[in-house]
Amino acid sequence: MTDDTVGQRQRIVLKLSGEALASSASDETIDAAAVEQLAREIAETRDSLDLELAVMVGGGNIWRGTTGAGAGMDRATSDTMGMLGTVINALALQDALEQHGQATRVLSAVQMAEVAEPYIRRRAIRHLEKGRVVVFAAGMGNPYFTTDTSAALRAAEIEAVLLCKGTHGGVDGVYSADPRLDPTATRYDEVSFMEVVSKDLRVMDLTAITFCKDNGLPIRVFDLMEPGNIRKALSGESIGTLVR
Ligand code: UDP
Repeated sequence: MTDDTVGQRQRIVLKLSGEALASSASDETIDAAAVEQLAREIAETRDSLDLELAVMVGGGNIWRGTTGAGAGMDRATSDTMGMLGTVINALALQDALEQHGQATRVLSAVQMAEVAEPYIRRRAIRHLEKGRVVVFAAGMGNPYFTTDTSAALRAAEIEAVLLCKGTHGGVDGVYSADPRLDPTATRYDEVSFMEVVSKDLRVMDLTAITFCKDNGLPIRVFDLMEPGNIRKALSGESIGTLVR
């Protein structure tokens, strides 16, 4: 079953939280097996579906700006540390994708010429057209933002038709309440941006949601950790929740 948000050779942005690269089974900040599993699924999916795929990777497994700010650090400095964390994750993902034969380019919003290409919109699109996976690193390069909002921004910039937000931690979509705390919580198959905002549903931060709403960019929220789900989400199957 497919919906009308995904067709042929369409461009999709996949948002991965940094914590998806870690694992409860190990103490490592980046768990090689978890990264390998993600990379295998991403590479297989991009290869078999005729689509252009960009990945925005978070950094929460390494550092979040609010952690430092809460401990009295300068917020902008702390956020910059968070952005650098996403670069580490992006390099790990690139390495794993390339081990699966998937050509990958890391494009960083913070310039570091020896490590990654700078983010240039037209260059990102060119890489995608050539079948490379583009991994966006360093969010959008500005403190006070998250990689969710960065994913939405990049998706709009490159004219993606869909933003796929992979969750971890067992929540497989958007619920009426937190299903880990409220057993009566029900999952939406589809929900509007307005409802997400008015009911304060947990999908992405409000900045990302309102940006997607203003720019007509649908979001598919799905459980990233369930094997096969990346393919299902990117191929337009109705899994998890569609926000539009
Ligand atoms: N960050 C930022 N600007 C951006 C993107 C990210 O300052 O454009 C910082 C922010 O401090 C954030 C951290 O990088 O806490 C890691 O990103 P995020 O929390 O979005 O990662 P995730 O939760 O997806 O792992």
